[in-house]
Amino acid sequence: MITDKKILLRIDNGYVLKTPRANNIICGFSTREFNYDFRAGSSIRDHQEISRNREKFFESLSLKPRNSVFLEQVHEAQVKKITKAEQGMGAYDFKNSIAGTDAAITALKDTPLCSLSADCLPLVFWHPREDIIGIAHAGWRGLKAGIAFKTAQKISRIYKCPPRKIRVFICPGIRSCCYEVSSDFKQYFPNCVFRSKNRFYLDLLKIAFTQLSEAGISGENIIDSALCTKCNSSAFFSFRGGDQKKRMLSFVALKQLRPRRCEAEN
Ligand SMILES: [Zn+2]
Repeated sequence: MITDKKILLRIDNGYVLKTPRANNIICGFSTREFNYDFRAGSSIRDHQEISRNREKFFESLSLKPRNSVFLEQVHEAQVKKITKAEQGMGAYDFKNSIAGTDAAITALKDTPLCSLSADCLPLVFWHPREDIIGIAHAGWRGLKAGIAFKTAQKISRIYKCPPRKIRVFICPGIRSCCYEVSSDFKQYFPNCVFRSKNRFYLDLLKIAFTQLSEAGISGENIIDSALCTKCNSSAFFSFRGGDQKKRMLSFVALKQLRPRRCEAEN
């Protein structure tokens, strides 16, 4: 697993991954400055501001905000293939996000797949040659239901690509340094709960990594942002850090590469 902060490039209100090793893939996440969950935007003014901020965020990356896809995120493990019919769902109204779904995969260009989180681990998937991307919202419940494994498996099955070619980027989420849980969690994740000074901590990263490996993804193709949302709550929203309603946005998109203009045309 690669963990190196130099892999990130600062953009307005967020970061993108510098080296997806494919020039048509773009993925990244927002920082605290701008993104509020639609669910928190109760007034029309809030809603308008959120929509405008999101538009600016995607437009600054040459992506179409109106095509972005949001998921209801119910802490389960349903993975949805996104077709033209679902393009733009949840983009401007969270109530219209894809119901009962925590992960999405697609081969559609210029269709940012999005995940909202405040401590849960967003996992971004792509294949560097084939035009395929995916995203998963992986909290402990989703991971218990196998979401990391199921997303990798579905990409591989639907798009017929060998899992060892799939790349994964792990966005900021709560890390074992801060994720204190009750000892009951040992029954769900016997190898991923550790004890320190009579307290128990859950390692979501290890659970995700184990599932991705079991799905056939090579460790060297998993890139970790190595950022804990609670340790860095001045930069990211963290539920455990006190952000009950606000969420950060993680995304992945296939860029529509425009053909270069021929010299003779100029
Ligand atoms: Zn931490």
